[in-house]
Amino acid sequence: MKILVVGLGPTSIGFLYRYKELSLKETLLNDNELVIIEKNNKPGGLSSSITIDEYSFDIGVHLFASHYEYFTKILEKYEKMGLMKRKIRKSLIFYDNKLIPYPFQSNIHLLDKYKALLMLDSMKKSSNIKFGDNINLKQWAIEKFGYEIYRSFFEPQNEKSWGIPLNNIGSYWLSNRIPKPDVEEIEKKINHGEKDGTQTNWGPNNEFFIPSTGRCGDFWSKLVENLSLDINYNTYCGFYVPDVIGVSCSIFHGNTCLNDHFDMVVSSAPLHEVILEIQSPKNLKNPFSNLDNHLRYNFLCNTIVVIKGDVPEKFKDVTWIYLPNNDYIFYRLSIVTNYSHDTSPPGTFLINLEASYNNSFLDNIKIIESNAKRILMDLELTFDLSNIIRIIIQNPYPLNYPIPTLERNTVLNDIIPYLESQNIYSRGRFGMYKYEVGNMDHCFMQGVELCDRLFNSGTEYTIHDPEFVNSGQMKLDDD
Ligand SMILES: Cc1cc2nc3c(=O)[nH]c(=O)nc-3n(C[C@H](O)[C@H](O)[C@H](O)COP(=O)(O)OP(=O)(O)OC[C@H]3O[C@@H](n4cnc5c(N)ncnc54)[C@H](O)[C@@H]3O)c2cc1C
Repeated sequence: MKILVVGLGPTSIGFLYRYKELSLKETLLNDNELVIIEKNNKPGGLSSSITIDEYSFDIGVHLFASHYEYFTKILEKYEKMGLMKRKIRKSLIFYDNKLIPYPFQSNIHLLDKYKALLMLDSMKKSSNIKFGDNINLKQWAIEKFGYEIYRSFFEPQNEKSWGIPLNNIGSYWLSNRIPKPDVEEIEKKINHGEKDGTQTNWGPNNEFFIPSTGRCGDFWSKLVENLSLDINYNTYCGFYVPDVIGVSCSIFHGNTCLNDHFDMVVSSAPLHEVILEIQSPKNLKNPFSNLDNHLRYNFLCNTIVVIKGDVPEKFKDVTWIYLPNNDYIFYRLSIVTNYSHDTSPPGTFLINLEASYNNSFLDNIKIIESNAKRILMDLELTFDLSNIIRIIIQNPYPLNYPIPTLERNTVLNDIIPYLESQNIYSRGRFGMYKYEVGNMDHCFMQGVELCDRLFNSGTEYTIHDPEFVNSGQMKLDDD
């Protein structure tokens, strides 16, 4: 069998990792021919790291949280080799010029008493609503936290990161992401004038792994190196022409284009691109050519700021800070140096700011720079603008979020089986479009599970049952 693997991000790396593992047991697999192509000059995709002069950073700060025993074992193996370390999350929210711990709803006692009481009052009317197919994100959040918290924090924070109104987003993907507020406890804290914040340890990324040196892309590069694969970098797969026994693909490298036939394609390229690139052999109309309108995504405006000096004491162990204030175009700030000290020269530190590209003002570099500077001054990450050594804005902007719109599942339920009937297996963050299983561990495991299904009679849990895998109970059938 001849198999084309398109892209070399975590999804394909997971597929190839499992393939190598299975081919040690099942020697027949070694008769297959694997052709691996990646349009960039390195592995990792959105999880690769970038080095510009003496600064290195991710596309948005990346960290490894694992919902899977299989993936955790790999991270622990690297930890034993001294290549990975663990870190505890400390995330804050900059609200009303105050830094309060995340989650917002558990810490409203730190706000002005009048505001806190208003929020508490509307929270009392809230219910423990379950996410579901017929409830949009706006309805869900108002019902869960009350209108005051929705209006003050949830809506501005989320509309900035998703880039579309929350009533166009479903709630079906939420599973256990957001804790239920304990109203009695919050009321006690407001009445007692409690001054300390509550940093709760819910969620899979409370403790996470990060590389001991460098950034997350370095982990993927090492993993790929250890697989000893033959990889065609700077190579792009364009058109797909399915037939009854496989798929003909156009593969571009430099100025050359090669047409080759494969029994099967495993793709982690964005689904909205793949759909448009499928050509029917007899010029029949592609049945899905207009469906990409329903697969919505946004871009990331990733901005790195290099600052002279050390990370100020009050931010020493902070991982990231949410920025709900609508005067800021960025929705999140991360202190890269607090993850890895070697990402910039001694005597400097790195800040990463993320904005969703949904507004044309992000084309205006001056606005991005002045907004970034304002945030750093407001937060007191620096007191003097002359300490800002450099601002790096990543342009063109990479893909950011696959948006869980209300229509998404209906569209996917049509497209994915159609593609499989044409021998094209699309998986991964933008290959499967499921944000809830779109992190590195999920994508790596989407690749592992696909390989297991195709060559080891395994089951694909991640794409079919996100809620189950996100509960952390998931094991491979033969684990
Ligand atoms: C801002 C941001 C922050 C994130 N933070 C985290 C985090 O902290 N923790 C976490 O676990 N995850 C995080 N993620 C998610 C993580 O980046 C993804 O889970 C992961 O990279 C997805 O892997 P993938 O293989 O599915 O896709 P990608 O990483 O997109 O890889 C796909 C690869 O395919 C290649 N390709 C595409 N089309 C073609 C083609 N036609 N021909 C050839 N090659 C092609 C691309 O160049 C790319 O290398 C973050 C993502 C973003 C955007």
